[in-house]
Amino acid sequence: MSDKLTQDKTELVKLRSAGDLRNTMDAYFARLKEAAETRSRKIAWCTSVGPAELLYSLGFEVYFPENHGAMLGAGKNADKYIPTAVAHGYSPDICSYLTSDIGAFLQNETPLQKSGFSSIPRPDILVYNTNQCKEVEDWLSFYARHFQVPIVGIHTPLCIPDLSPEIIRSVSDQYHRIIPEVEKVAGRKFDMDRFRETVGLSHDGCVLWRHVLEKARHIPSPVNFFDSAIHMGPIVVMRGTRYAVDYYKILLTELEERVNTNISAVPDERFRIYWEGMPIWYRLSSLAKLFAKLDTCIVASTYCNSWVFDDLDPADPFESSALAYSKLFIVRSDTVKEKILEQLLKEFTVQGIIYHDSKTCARNSNNRFGLQNRLFKQTGIPYLEINGDLNDPRCYSEEQSIIAIETFIDQLAGKM
Ligand code: SF4
Repeated sequence: MSDKLTQDKTELVKLRSAGDLRNTMDAYFARLKEAAETRSRKIAWCTSVGPAELLYSLGFEVYFPENHGAMLGAGKNADKYIPTAVAHGYSPDICSYLTSDIGAFLQNETPLQKSGFSSIPRPDILVYNTNQCKEVEDWLSFYARHFQVPIVGIHTPLCIPDLSPEIIRSVSDQYHRIIPEVEKVAGRKFDMDRFRETVGLSHDGCVLWRHVLEKARHIPSPVNFFDSAIHMGPIVVMRGTRYAVDYYKILLTELEERVNTNISAVPDERFRIYWEGMPIWYRLSSLAKLFAKLDTCIVASTYCNSWVFDDLDPADPFESSALAYSKLFIVRSDTVKEKILEQLLKEFTVQGIIYHDSKTCARNSNNRFGLQNRLFKQTGIPYLEINGDLNDPRCYSEEQSIIAIETFIDQLAGKM
């Protein structure tokens, strides 16, 4: 009997690079921990699509509360912490990254304690960009009040149809405007050459990340959404450093090998799906197994694509940062989003779309204003909507979702 016939379908083909990923992430947290304990380097907190390059260029270690929120979700602990944030006046209906993170902080718990941290690293400054949502400003403001440290931000307009020169200029001006405060905390002067260098590294890391994601165009795909949601760690937290660049070279080499030898992420790929919306962090692994059992690979997602800032250009670091961070899917109008999705569905040979309507993240739930119907009319590609949440498991019915997903894939099989 061949290996293929004896293979358990839910036994996912693990990426060899997982070890390098662990080392890269461990080293990142070790740098943060050392800075937090010795206060030898300043620590900036930054939103996940905020101006990380500027902060790295000024010598900060950079901590990302959303990464911490995702860790709380993946650790299946968010529902333990959310009620504490609710008791402090934060609605259970707002971002569950925010409520689980603030709740955990108020309970003095963090998954980082397993890595030897006594608590999350104390910020010297908090920096945000509202390109993704307004919630990030409220979230970081809680910590600014608590730690009595400065907070600065970039306010990007939402639902952008065209990236007009006025928008780019306004965002670029705001980058310039926050520099004096950031310099004051950093204790050093902004250095244009150093900024160009970090923007260049960020660009290179993003291009490699894009190449990683594009490998899923191959049939069968060597990588799926569940792998990517984990392997995106370095592009989120180390964008603008050589660590991210080095890691994605390793991952890309492995995926190229997989493509050349026809190794697929899902053992018997028959169906190719697009995932729209946030991951369901507390069910990531059970969903990965479910889709593998259904011979289905989630080949592309809005979420993982969101960290492709390949417009960054060291020759014009301010304007290109403004462009890259305002071009982001989440900050665009529905008409632009529809065009982007239509293109991705073609490029990745997608047969169906799953919209995860995430209860506490309206901005990442794109099925609330008819986009799913319009896209279906344009493409004829069927879709399924599932209700859940990124972190709060109380908003998700696993049984209902499994039945809905199985039925959806059955219907796709019937169309073949
Ligand atoms: S985009 Fe959604 S998940 Fe992310 S911080 Fe904003 S509300 Fe939370």
